[in-house]
Amino acid sequence: MLVCVVCWGIKLSIDYNRTAFVKPNVHCEHCGPINSLEEIDDLLAPSIIILNEKGYTTQACCSGHLLHASAYIMFRPNVKISDFLSAPKGFDFDHSLWSAQFSIRKYFGTLPTGELFRKQLQSALDVLEWAEKLSTKQ
Ligand SMILES: [Zn+2]
Repeated sequence: MLVCVVCWGIKLSIDYNRTAFVKPNVHCEHCGPINSLEEIDDLLAPSIIILNEKGYTTQACCSGHLLHASAYIMFRPNVKISDFLSAPKGFDFDHSLWSAQFSIRKYFGTLPTGELFRKQLQSALDVLEWAEKLSTKQ
């Protein structure tokens, strides 16, 4: 999902001829000619928008892949684990060994494809519910 990381508006991906993972050469009509558009994991994008609007700035995320069975959201250094009362259902706080940043992460384990996909979808919903309940970051 294409999202402006300045105003957190969802944008249409208008150039379908481009190779995946190449940033589209388009600007946010609201924010003007700055490079503010990012592709964000479709299943987590609604939660990522809410988190950033509430001040929990994010660095990266993934809802999981069928061959890489974990979901995570990595936060920027200004966000601390102590900013949260708890992680989303089934997730743990995961400290990186090589930086001060942390993630929330959930491992799905080895499962049949359909079961794994259901768990990924449910986890994305659990993250959304968690993000919606958070207070604005102080
Ligand atoms: Zn914008």
